Amino acid sequence: QALLGATEIRRLAEELGIRPTKTLGQNFVIDGNTIRRIVAAANVDPAETVLEVGPGLGSLTLGLLDAAERVVAVEIDPVLAERLPQTIAQWRPERAASCDVVQGDAMRVTELPAEPTALVANLPYNVAVPVVLHLLAHFPSLRHGLVMVQDEVADRLAAPPGSKVYGVPSVKAQWYGRMRKAGVIGMNVFWPAPKIASGLVAFERHDQPQTTASREEVFAVIDAAFAQRRKTLRAALAGWAGNGVLAEQALTRAGVDPSARGEVLDIHAYARIAEAKQLPLA
Ligand code: SAM
Repeated sequence: QALLGATEIRRLAEELGIRPTKTLGQNFVIDGNTIRRIVAAANVDPAETVLEVGPGLGSLTLGLLDAAERVVAVEIDPVLAERLPQTIAQWRPERAASCDVVQGDAMRVTELPAEPTALVANLPYNVAVPVVLHLLAHFPSLRHGLVMVQDEVADRLAAPPGSKVYGVPSVKAQWYGRMRKAGVIGMNVFWPAPKIASGLVAFERHDQPQTTASREEVFAVIDAAFAQRRKTLRAALAGWAGNGVLAEQALTRAGVDPSARGEVLDIHAYARIAEAKQLPLA
């Protein structure tokens, strides 16, 4: 299998005159086994269109082209985006027509040349959570996926209510789907090597919670609750509700103990709180 290894990645980078930048989270996978592992864990059906964020020099893109019908790759770095079609034509000429490269910011993209059903990406670490949330919100066709992120972010995304690392990303991700930690990847499979381990998160989309509140309204409650996560919900949500009495009222109506903390609630409880605020006062 022709996948890019350490030598090819370095040669390509040198040829393009690029120095991997931290701001864009440019850590390239230089190990074919890791690529194979990611592709296998992604469980992509051969008929699927995969959305890849940050293809970089193309190692994962080549792996995905072996597994899927089509790959749409969104890359922010113009030099990398421009070069990718050539890399694919060189290593997988027979698949070159099945890859669309879009140069742009994955946090802002709202239109793609094909409708993706899976998201598979080695994400730029500093923007991993907003990228995932943006894509799940804007592309309902994405049914499942597998993303590689910083290991602690992987834990956070997959954390159940009440656990130590449960936070805003954990709850918001539940709006869209079920997240599951699918493995840990060491630092030495990257060039340049990051200082921390990476984690894999697999997700399956589920129906969003049944509620009359909008996603924005539900997310506003989550943000308010976690902005002061050590406080009781009664106190943390006072600003959001108008005052402490109104917060207590919304919580009671939602069936949530006002003296509980936000870190024990799941997405359904947050949806009920957002909905309770809308109800006319009794
Ligand atoms: N997929 C490649 C691999 O596994 O070797 C590269 C992964 S690297 C961790 C992240 C990639 O995302 C880089 O190529 C970087 O330029 C790109 N990137 C960073 N921010 C981005 C954004 N907002 N939208 C799209 N791509 C972005």
